[in-house]
Amino acid sequence: MKNGLSILLLTSKSWAGFNISPPLGLYNLKTAVEAHNHCCEIFDYDIDDENLLKTRVKSGAYDIIGMSVTHVNMSMDLDAILELRQLALSAHDTLMIAGGQEATMNYEQWLRTKLLDICFLGFADKTFANFCDHLFLFDRKYHEGNSLSTNLLTLLQNTSGVAYLAPMLKTERVDMGMQTVYQPSPTLTREEFSELFYVNGLKNNIPYYRYWDIMRARKNNAFNNASFTVETTRLYTVSHCPRRCGFCSSQNFLPLSQDKKITIIMLSAQEVYELVEHYANNVGARAFMFSDDDFPVGNAQGILRLKEFCQKVIEGKSSGELPSDLQFFCQARVLDFLYRQSDGTKILRSELLQLMKLAGFHNIGLGIESFSERLLHMPSVNKIGVTLDDYRIVIDELLRLGITPQMFIIIGIPESTVEDLMDSITVATEYIHKGADVAVISTMRVYPGSPLTQNGDYPLVTKPWINPVTGQQTDILDFFIPENKEIAGIVDMIDEAAAEEQVSLKRRYGWSEDAMLSKSLIGTIQFIAVAKLLERHDVATRLYKMVDENLESSSYAA
Ligand code: SF4
Repeated sequence: MKNGLSILLLTSKSWAGFNISPPLGLYNLKTAVEAHNHCCEIFDYDIDDENLLKTRVKSGAYDIIGMSVTHVNMSMDLDAILELRQLALSAHDTLMIAGGQEATMNYEQWLRTKLLDICFLGFADKTFANFCDHLFLFDRKYHEGNSLSTNLLTLLQNTSGVAYLAPMLKTERVDMGMQTVYQPSPTLTREEFSELFYVNGLKNNIPYYRYWDIMRARKNNAFNNASFTVETTRLYTVSHCPRRCGFCSSQNFLPLSQDKKITIIMLSAQEVYELVEHYANNVGARAFMFSDDDFPVGNAQGILRLKEFCQKVIEGKSSGELPSDLQFFCQARVLDFLYRQSDGTKILRSELLQLMKLAGFHNIGLGIESFSERLLHMPSVNKIGVTLDDYRIVIDELLRLGITPQMFIIIGIPESTVEDLMDSITVATEYIHKGADVAVISTMRVYPGSPLTQNGDYPLVTKPWINPVTGQQTDILDFFIPENKEIAGIVDMIDEAAAEEQVSLKRRYGWSEDAMLSKSLIGTIQFIAVAKLLERHDVATRLYKMVDENLESSSYAA
């Protein structure tokens, strides 16, 4: 007799490309259910064999199959879930579930595809482990016809942090169809957050070596990527970002899962340091990526935590407790590095930045979105309290200190004019020339749960996904349509045009077709493609010249 359920957890089918890393959320779930004596396997589309997966699923090996779905790859995830569901159900009854940010903020749409039975909301580790304990006591009969079984519906009624479809009460003659039931999660406590990301972080048995081996092999074949540290570990240390940027849904992940606002929870400097020490000395990590949306948090407590962490790292490196070459990367906001004085003026947090440099922070991701002052304050961007001058002061200082700013820029901002866009490209390329890195996103994507999506006034594009078995159509929210007709006319052509530009650049320089380019070069090529599509050939020519100069001096950030 089995001791527990057999569970398969899958990543989204979004191949990460070169930069692969273990799915930490799934490993946390695995730790949670294994502590309750259930068996759990993780399948990562980036590194595992899909044929083997299908064979296992078809053999009926799993009671539950769950995916950490993503919105960007919704159609591919639906394809995968449909296929796995068919394979699994051909063997015996299997429960199909989803979790993560997208499953929390877009549960209604995922459930209405009728390919998933339950969406688990928020940080679902405890909820899911307890749910599995109860489910294990069931006969393996999870479905009755097209609906969940009566037993399962009763169990779900008593479970927090889930969304599912349940039949509406029938009148005598009319079947009223299905209603979506949403039962928020309990409020996340400091202790639970610490258990998830500190205690589990110290004991999770994550196979980093598998990822690093693959990346080492890829790195040998890579072009212009010599400075990338393969032995990188990701850490989460903050519960969420509470800012209100219009397009971003990160801010609503926890509030929507709990149906209430919550205060930010963060690991202490000591806890973060212990995680770093553990992964550096016991696992062999040489670089750390803090995957928090805003690692410094920006309030007094967050800034103090960051200073203390940097001081601990500096001491750890000098005492030999930490390898001296450890590097750190994080995402932050420009305002984190500015201190607002009582008269309202802002000054640089120079001491903080110097400590970060000394501790080994090499690269800081900044959600710039646009270098147009006007656009920063439009509802779709809504960068509250920040100005273009603030951007310049912080980026200049990072460059002066030798910390690479990685600027995230969006092209298709709904309120943008062509001049706004050209201004933004001009300033961004000025900073690329000075050594900044860039990641360019061609459209402003629609993320369920973001203020702009909830606003409803902004026209958007959807793309259909059609279930090949039932013919049911799901309209996937894709991107917001720019108000400016010229930009609207080219915004969905940018990626293809940029890919063609890449091919012609590689030919011009005699590089192989699969040569990997640095992000800053890829970003500049995207800018060239935009300028050409908008027939701003003066800008395109200037950027070409810059590319040639930078390639001759090899000054593109690798
Ligand atoms: S864009 Fe960044 S700062 Fe703005 S809400 Fe999202 S995570 Fe927070």
